Amino acid sequence: MLKVGITGGIGSGKTTVCKIFEVLGVPVFYADLVAKEIMVKDLILIEGVKAAFGGDSYFDSGVLNNKHIAAIVFNNKAELEKLNALVHPAVFRAFDSWLEEIPPNSPYILKEAALLFESESYKMCNTSILVTAPKQMKLDRVTERDGVSAEQVLARMDKQFTDEQKLAMADHHILNDESRSLISQVLDLHQRFLNAKA
Ligand code: ATP
Repeated sequence: MLKVGITGGIGSGKTTVCKIFEVLGVPVFYADLVAKEIMVKDLILIEGVKAAFGGDSYFDSGVLNNKHIAAIVFNNKAELEKLNALVHPAVFRAFDSWLEEIPPNSPYILKEAALLFESESYKMCNTSILVTAPKQMKLDRVTERDGVSAEQVLARMDKQFTDEQKLAMADHHILNDESRSLISQVLDLHQRFLNAKA
């Protein structure tokens, strides 16, 4: 099964692109969404988080204490790496289970991850797509979608590789600048992946 990693900076439109692939019948694994889910579901992960960051990491109800974790890892690279070292293998476990469940007639699969290159999970994919958009457009999209300030979005952008760095690593590129048709760019790649599978 061909595994295609797909990524893009915050607000680039990678989820929007994935939705188009889904319409074409391509199963999509949303790694960031799954990462949030398994924080309260994966027992190995939960025990690891408690051991690393203390019992206060979870409320008695089992809900994740985001504030507690954020206060520890915010601007502390070593602590953030510790958290990632727990979360990334758990996401890989979830991905493997997900792969076992996909319909057998699926042409190929997509794995969407904001930090596909930063987390090195692209190495587990056969090929990769980078979605980009002009910086101002990304800022406008995210401030409108999430109701946050441009400064908050810029701070999140600073934690990601630049588009130039990612372009050098990606095999395919979709430019989501609202002037080129997204659908035709997706259809073009879809055809290529179908041919690659044959
Ligand atoms: P994040 O990393 O924050 O999850 P993302 O890269 O997944 O972002 P999307 O959520 O797909 O980006 O898009 C960000 C916002 O921009 C959404 O509100 C989406 O509807 C809008 N958007 C994306 N692409 C387009 C487009 N081509 N035309 C109009 N709006 C768009």
